[in-house]
Amino acid sequence: MASVGVKLGSIGSQWTTACKQAVHDLNLLFRRKRIEVTLAINGAGPTINVETDASILGTLVHGKTSAETNDAGKLMRAEVRLPVKLSINTPKGVRDAGTGYAEVIAAHEFVHALGHAPHNSHLMAQTFSKSPGDRPAGDKLTAGGVSLPPLDLSDDSVAQLKSIWG
Ligand SMILES: [Zn+2]
Repeated sequence: MASVGVKLGSIGSQWTTACKQAVHDLNLLFRRKRIEVTLAINGAGPTINVETDASILGTLVHGKTSAETNDAGKLMRAEVRLPVKLSINTPKGVRDAGTGYAEVIAAHEFVHALGHAPHNSHLMAQTFSKSPGDRPAGDKLTAGGVSLPPLDLSDDSVAQLKSIWG
């Protein structure tokens, strides 16, 4: 089982909570789908460094990830950039988005960092529809007919991650 560390910069309490939740839930999903990689906050192995970036709009539903791989296609290090603050448009106006919504965006970028380049569906969709809850805790993103969270990977994404991580 390969191990990948996730190092959180000064990204604020909501992103810290969301990133920890994303690591936890991705590990459960990887176990269930038999993808042989484990993420760990401050863990050993190649590292995904996470920072916020004020140049990424908070109304967008994604961050930015760049990854360096070795000749075998294995991750050496990756940089994930997240918007400073996420907002969502609701019938009552614009407000800060909930942590579950942030978790989906963080998890999407972590999966890119693990070598998943294409945008297909579910967690790795090209575009998400925003689905605001009555309260921030109920905010969801939908893609490919699924509502996230909980995190879900399409069969294509599972096959691709298995081809990289065995
Ligand atoms: Zn993406």
